[in-house]
Amino acid sequence: VNPERSPRHGPALGVDIGGTKVLGVALDADDEVAAEARATTPHSGIFDPNDPAAGDGAAAVAGAVAEVVAALRRATDDDGRAPVGVGVPGMCDRQGVLRFAPNLAAASGADIAALLAERLPDTILVIENDATCAAVAEHRLGAAAGDENVLLVTLGTGIGGGVISEGRVLLGASGFAGEIGHMVVDPAGPPCPCGRRGCWERYASGGGLARLAREAAYAGRLPAVVEAAGGDAEAVRGEDVTKAALAGDPGALGVMEDLGWWVALGLTNLTAVLDPARIVIGGGLVEVGELLLTPTKKAYAEQVEGGRRRPDVAIVPAALGERAGAVGAALTARDRR
Ligand SMILES: [Zn+2]
Repeated sequence: VNPERSPRHGPALGVDIGGTKVLGVALDADDEVAAEARATTPHSGIFDPNDPAAGDGAAAVAGAVAEVVAALRRATDDDGRAPVGVGVPGMCDRQGVLRFAPNLAAASGADIAALLAERLPDTILVIENDATCAAVAEHRLGAAAGDENVLLVTLGTGIGGGVISEGRVLLGASGFAGEIGHMVVDPAGPPCPCGRRGCWERYASGGGLARLAREAAYAGRLPAVVEAAGGDAEAVRGEDVTKAALAGDPGALGVMEDLGWWVALGLTNLTAVLDPARIVIGGGLVEVGELLLTPTKKAYAEQVEGGRRRPDVAIVPAALGERAGAVGAALTARDRR
């Protein structure tokens, strides 16, 4: 974000295409959220090419975005002049084509910009990676306000990343920078929807917690949690573990320690490349708060290169919650209009 090119005024709309929901916000001229709208993400998750609606996956997603934009325009009496930013999950190029989206296979490869231009004629549209949008929002208005070197990590279904380097958004040659969830941390690890094995997001996301939980359950480390799940280790879910850990169950606390170790492994690798002053952690998983942050910070301090010889890196929860991506999409649209 180049502040000299950023007219930091005027309303803007932002829409975040998530794994389960499409969430939109209207920002007023003071960056306050004036309206919110949402829809269910069509064809979410792993897409079945044999589904009769297969070819319509991306079109349906674009339709949901247009529906949310229409609702925001109605709610704010916008005549269509406010620019619209759209955050998309995956590798989005500078022309607005979602080249690859392992966690939203229905829209993978789709020309999102063209599909939206058909549905939202005469609209200023900006398409950007969702986690990059969240980084912009947290940097401008949230947990990293005032920091010039920021890494934002969203721990949800998968892992998203956004980087602010010396005050500017890092996009890379094609716009694909920040695909941090697909750094391989174990080449012999479990398969990932991206086609490789042992990606960081197989360990340090919501899905990763579920896997660590089942492993601990089979190993007999979670007797109380397994009993509460009806005696079936396979039925143990991530939220069963966080609930038990909040209640002080030692086995569940051990799983959270393991999870924190995996989160820290990726964060220390990224620190070696980026040298951030602050790491902001967002996404559904951070809602458990210190239960995750405390073991993450401990493992980070033990693993990071230079240890105590380097200044402390602040590891903090995101401040804007589930709206971060949509707010950042709106800010990005206003910046680049
Ligand atoms: Zn992967």
